[in-house]
Order: sequence, then structure tokens, then C-alpha cells
Amino acid sequence: MKKITLLITMAMLFSLSLNAWTLGKLGDFKFEKVNANVWVMHGPVMMPNKENGGFMNNPALIESENGLIIVDPGGNYNVGKEILKEVEKVSKKPVIAIFNTHKHGDHWFANKNFQEKYPDVKIYALAYMIEKVKESSADLWYGILDRLTGNLAGTNNPFAFPNTGVDHKETVVVDGQTFIMRHPARGHTDTDLLIEHVNSKTLFLGDNLMKGRFGAFDESSSIYANIEILENVINKKDGYGDYKLYVPGHGPSGALHETLDPFLKYMKIVVQGAEKAYEEGMESYEIKPEVMENLKDFHSWDDIEGQMGKHLMKAYSEVEARDM
Ligand SMILES: [Zn+2]
Repeated sequence: MKKITLLITMAMLFSLSLNAWTLGKLGDFKFEKVNANVWVMHGPVMMPNKENGGFMNNPALIESENGLIIVDPGGNYNVGKEILKEVEKVSKKPVIAIFNTHKHGDHWFANKNFQEKYPDVKIYALAYMIEKVKESSADLWYGILDRLTGNLAGTNNPFAFPNTGVDHKETVVVDGQTFIMRHPARGHTDTDLLIEHVNSKTLFLGDNLMKGRFGAFDESSSIYANIEILENVINKKDGYGDYKLYVPGHGPSGALHETLDPFLKYMKIVVQGAEKAYEEGMESYEIKPEVMENLKDFHSWDDIEGQMGKHLMKAYSEVEARDM
């Protein structure tokens, strides 16, 4: 009898440890092996809100011989607890390095959980990104995400800023794993790193690539530049090669065209609309219905109604600036 109870308890514990993280009605989330030694936990493909608690990015982990390397650990301290637990279900090896792709807090605020457990962990980001988050972006994003999710407690005072600055074309080797940094001057923001993991032939594009949802084009971004980045990746120009896997900042990872083409097409349609409006002396809102019509393939993407008009205005301001 005792033996049976013990067996049942052990079986329950075992199944608990296999359980994924259940995030309300949104379902189960766990790291999935997507390439050689690369795992990604694809977050809910939606904007940050109370339901997802601010978890909607794609934390990734790379397993090396002696440890784990994390890319974009997540959006706040509370979701970071669950993300760290999921990391530990993949492997008990220590986390030995972290990379942050850009300044938006939904990608890096959960550095905090990893730094708490591994105080000496090196957290890499573009040197200029570290400057910007310390100056104002961390506070700005804390405010934005706290309003939308109400789940930011524990994330600041202090923030876990990245502590190791890197620059364009720098190569970082961590425990036999080679990463090449690429920083386009502008794109999704002015602090972006596209990170190539050489060993597995994986390209992490940060928010220069999304699928199924949109993100903000903030004051430091350029839609034209974002288009150019994706075209360079597709055409293997500017140092980009052939990769087995492309990982967006939000949405499913996959092969080159299935993963990059949709967002590229979206941005091109928005920019074409902005150019047409500008040429015909219209305001951006006047062409919005026509652009929406041209975006039929994207009507199922999260919050297109809320996002597209803003993107169109941003594209219009870029068209104007180009003309001056
Ligand atoms: Zn972003």
C-alpha cells in the first residue's frame, strides 16, 4: 500500500514537472525544440494585456555544453518566474549568457529573474541600447506595460539592465556557441540587434519581424528601413546568409519565406498607401479604407484596426520627410 502511494506521488510529481505553463484561457506554453540546440517558447500572438500578463514575446534558449544562453527572456518579473521555470524544464544547466534584441521592455524586463538567480550572468545588448534604456526607455516601457497588463510589480527598482555592450558586426562566443551581431542603424527601433547563431544557423530578428500581430513603430523606428532589413535578409545581402530557422520577435518561427514574406508585404502595402496619399494631396486617414481593403490577408492579425492607422500615419510622415 505504502509502495503504491509512493508510486502515485512520484507519478504525479513527474507529470507536474512535465506540465507546461498554463496561461489562463490562452493555453499552455513551453519551450519547444525548433532547431539543433535551439528552443523557443512562442508567446501568445497578441498585444500585451491583462489576460497574457505581459507575456507575448518569444523567449529562446540555446543549449551549450556547459550552460544555457537566453535570447529575450520576457516582459516582466512576474511572467519571468514562469519563464525561468520553463527554462529549467529543458535543462538544469546554468544560464551563462543572455542577449536582448532591443530597448522595448516586453523583451528584456525578465532579465531580472535570471540575474537574481545568476548574479554574474553577462547580458548582451547593443551598447547604444543600454544607454537608451538607462536614459528613458525602461521607465517609458514600464509605464506602457503596467497600464496594459497591471503585472509589472517587482520589475524595477532596479531594472536588470543589460551589462555588456556590443556593436554592429561583433562576434560573441559563449561556451563554443558563436553569435554574430548585426545592427541596422534604424529598423523596428534605433537599438536593434539581429542575432545570428552560427552553430545552428538560426537568425533571431527581434521585432523587425512579426507574424500574426503588429507592434508599435515608435519615434526611433523607420518602416522603410524595416522593409530594407527584411529584403536584405531574403536576398542574403549585407552579410546575411542562409539560415535553417528565422525567429521573429512575436509569432511563429519558421523557414525564410513563410516567416518573412507576410510582414514584408504588410509594410509594403502600408507604405504604398502612404505614398499614394501624399502624391494625391490626401491625408493618411483618407486613404485608410483603401489600404485596409488591400490588407485582406492581414485582417485576422491581432488588433489590425488599432494598429494599421498608426502605421499608415508613421509611413506618411516618413514619405513627407523623404520629400523634404
Ligand atoms: Zn519591440
